[in-house]
Amino acid sequence: MENLCGSYGSHIFSDKVMQTRLPKDIYTSMKHCAREGTALGRDVANVVASAMKEWAMELGATHFCHWFQPLTGITAEKHDSFISPDGNGAAIAEFSGKELVMGEPDASSFPSGGLRATFEARGYTAWDPTSWAFVKDETLYVPTVFFSHTGETLDKKTPLLRSIQALSTSALRILKLFGDTETRTVIPTVGAEQEYFLIDKEDYLARRDLRFCGRTLLGALPPKGQEMDDHYFGAIPSRIKEFMAHLDRACWQLGIPAKTEHNEVAPAQHELAPIFTRANISCDQNQLLMSLMQQIAAEHGFVCLLHEKPFAGVNGSGKHNNWSLSTDRGTNLLDPGATPYENLQFLLFLCAVITAVDEHADLLRISVASPGNDHRLGGNEAPPAIVSMFLGDELTDVLSSFENDSDYLTKARSTLEPGVSALPCILRDTTDRNRTSPFAFTGNKFEFRMLGASQSIADPNIMLNTMVSDVLDRFASVLEQTDDFDNTVHSLIKQTLVEHKRIIFNGDGYTDDWVKEAFMRGLPNFPTTVDCVPYLLKNDNVSLFERHGIYTKSELQARHDVILENYSKTIAIEAKTMLDMVRKEVLPGISAYMNHTAKAVSRTVAVMGEHVCTSQKALLQRLDEAYMQIDQLVNELQRQLQEETTRSENIYEIARIYRDGILPAMTALREKVDAVEPLLPNECLSYPTYDKLLFGIAQ
Ligand code: ADP
Ligand code: MG
Repeated sequence: MENLCGSYGSHIFSDKVMQTRLPKDIYTSMKHCAREGTALGRDVANVVASAMKEWAMELGATHFCHWFQPLTGITAEKHDSFISPDGNGAAIAEFSGKELVMGEPDASSFPSGGLRATFEARGYTAWDPTSWAFVKDETLYVPTVFFSHTGETLDKKTPLLRSIQALSTSALRILKLFGDTETRTVIPTVGAEQEYFLIDKEDYLARRDLRFCGRTLLGALPPKGQEMDDHYFGAIPSRIKEFMAHLDRACWQLGIPAKTEHNEVAPAQHELAPIFTRANISCDQNQLLMSLMQQIAAEHGFVCLLHEKPFAGVNGSGKHNNWSLSTDRGTNLLDPGATPYENLQFLLFLCAVITAVDEHADLLRISVASPGNDHRLGGNEAPPAIVSMFLGDELTDVLSSFENDSDYLTKARSTLEPGVSALPCILRDTTDRNRTSPFAFTGNKFEFRMLGASQSIADPNIMLNTMVSDVLDRFASVLEQTDDFDNTVHSLIKQTLVEHKRIIFNGDGYTDDWVKEAFMRGLPNFPTTVDCVPYLLKNDNVSLFERHGIYTKSELQARHDVILENYSKTIAIEAKTMLDMVRKEVLPGISAYMNHTAKAVSRTVAVMGEHVCTSQKALLQRLDEAYMQIDQLVNELQRQLQEETTRSENIYEIARIYRDGILPAMTALREKVDAVEPLLPNECLSYPTYDKLLFGIAQ
């Protein structure tokens, strides 16, 4: 279908576009640089820039921008027009190689964890030719990396690219040992499934908590939540379908292979999964997808919520990071094939992941740490905050046979008979799925499920690539020294099992028993961001990143500081918003209803005498008590915000105060407000309640 596929990738400066628009020698130099990872010369850059500008202007672009991924976790862009006055009152359109390759935004207003002071403002963006430039909103977007005047990275993209390079180098060492001399690079592949909520824009605008914090800070559950399981995969309402179709078209134009869409578990919740691609492109595409979702939602009268926990009492939103390793010739190195037991190369790569995840569970937890995600991890909807790995029965049995030096009998796949002759028989997989594992092997890839919906996928992939690269290097060093290759591989597999099998857990990760068992196994459990972030600076972790050239110690320190600062600032904004809403909306609402009831009571009593209206009087009593308790909790939260959070200068201590003082004070306040909310008539509440937010979008 020409219409469907014809416009796919029409707005990216893709390989196909480069091939047709660049002189052959320039195109060849570009390809060479991409393949060998070398920088482009200025002459080449000038020609590429000029071709890019012509192409972009044909698509309506008037501006260009360097697009980068600072430590805010979202993207940043500064637009410049192509306009250049010619001195005679007219103008020409210009875009030079220099402008393509390098930009110089002020770095001081981005989070840098102390790497940049405001007086040392210089920062640089540099074109990342490994990702596609694209045209959106009449602007040519050039993907770039971002670093400081002194050369420290200030973004999430540079370390991601470094980790991809490190992983490739290490994986190639292993492949070479298995006799593969043809593969030139190994590429981590990533497919990120994205969950989100859509609510009506007018409801969003009417709630300060959603506007300032992206989540509701108050709100009682309506009579119906998600207990009927009727939203998951349910029929998609037409307004939502129109949004999804629009989003698909926008994605496809930008080369984002949007594939699977469905309603998710919570009311008003949905998911989109694109087809996987190279980790760095996937990272750009996920950022772009999140901004497209928000932009297109607005055009349909919706707001797209990407917060990890927009509503208490129903599921929050996460992101599943499907990760595997591919050769440049397209072989998936985590594909077990038909007989995994005999596939030593696969088993060795698998063991590298098992070892890495066990040794660096702390880093994986840190890579998904945020105040939003803390509300989710461990709830019965998302994997717990304990990192473990699901392998399934078949692979676990295969690995056990190595551990026990016993033979493994390959299991035949059985068939499932639906019992109706007209229906096809289904070949049953050798292993069932497990939805509760934070890190699950799913056939030929790993699915890391702890990510929060709003976060950049760069961090988890930086961690994964780096830690797996480290173990592959260790394996390679052993294997490069041996005369008995097969036996050494066997012992490495066996040793992995002996030392790291504690990380493998195929059971239900949502139970309390697992929490106890994980503790017995010595697996770390970090319920909150504040618990895990200090481990980023653990000596082992610092040397891991330094060894592979991913981060320097000061770059890690900066990231540590940014996470903690962001944690405290987020909760501070939430607490202030909550105070504002309760003072300006909830308490006046209670007052209004009391006033209304009191008037009714006094009029009725005037006519009928004191003995009537006992229930209304009791209601008045209840509302009065609630008012008083809420008022006290408001004052207590206010006091803590003013007095406690200013007690320390240390960012870790401050974050602890927010976690241990402010968050519980907010929870206590919310409980009281949510208990009184159902007593109030709608006209006494100035903001829309959960029933409207979650069930407002009709078919
Ligand atoms: P499921 O979650 O049911 O296993 P899929 O198999 O369709 O669903 O895959 C979910 C996501 O995993 C998709 O984004 C898909 O593109 C991605 N994926 C599939 N194979 C790989 C791979 N080799 N590397 C990375 N991601 C992959
Ligand atoms: Mg999934």
